[in-house]
Amino acid sequence: MTGMLTIAGLGPGDEALVTPEVAAALADATDIFGYAPYVARVSAREGLVLHASDNRQELLRAAEAMRLAAEGRRVVVVSSGDPGVFAMASAVFEALEASPQWQGVSIRVLPGVTAMLAAAARAGAPLGHDFCAINLSDNLKPWSVIEKRLRLAAEADFAIALYNPRSASRPEGFARALEVLKQAGCGDRITIFARAVTTPEERVDALRLRDARPDMADMRTLVIVGNSATRRCGRWIYAPRRAS
Ligand code: SAH
Repeated sequence: MTGMLTIAGLGPGDEALVTPEVAAALADATDIFGYAPYVARVSAREGLVLHASDNRQELLRAAEAMRLAAEGRRVVVVSSGDPGVFAMASAVFEALEASPQWQGVSIRVLPGVTAMLAAAARAGAPLGHDFCAINLSDNLKPWSVIEKRLRLAAEADFAIALYNPRSASRPEGFARALEVLKQAGCGDRITIFARAVTTPEERVDALRLRDARPDMADMRTLVIVGNSATRRCGRWIYAPRRAS
């Protein structure tokens, strides 16, 4: 029996945004690994083992998934959104690099709709010109790196998608990020707070960055700071296709 390790993105929440390719991988799986709330999105059925784990156990989870795939099981590691965007795919490859005995395991990565794309679609087209994405979590990188990237992204006039803006354990990070962006001259920029996009709790608000408050974001929020040309057209927000 040949095992397979599939790293799949479940999209931002709505079942309709799970790709047919990912749905087929889930239907064929023997084992699902992932952070508990994401594993909970996979329907239980006979013959399917659900391995839900804590958010911080990414490397352990990846190694265990690889071990089962090497034994011949069809293992799917799930992430929300896209698995390559601040998610499990990198953790699996880190585990692979550390464990040469698994080099022979078949691996595939199946993309999903990442949160910034779902959020952008709700607002209009704020990512219609050049943009970047920054993870505000400082679990895996020092704050000085985050601050430098924010400053340079502002200077380059990118629209900026901010993932993981705020958690209960480090509520001050997002306040600092807003301050850095204000000092970098972004006070006027249209800023979108998109929470739980494509789920029943969805909420999307937009305002100027200088009026944004840290408590407008939580860990289910994706923030998009527009570029200097981002504008409104009725209820829509978009980045014009030309930059000066
Ligand atoms: N791999 C995921 C991102 C994981 S990081 C992806 O591609 O979307 C988790 C962060 O993603 C959250 O803190 C939030 O910023 C964002 N996020 C995930 N799902 C979201 C949703 N439905 N609505 C808004 N933001 C979301």
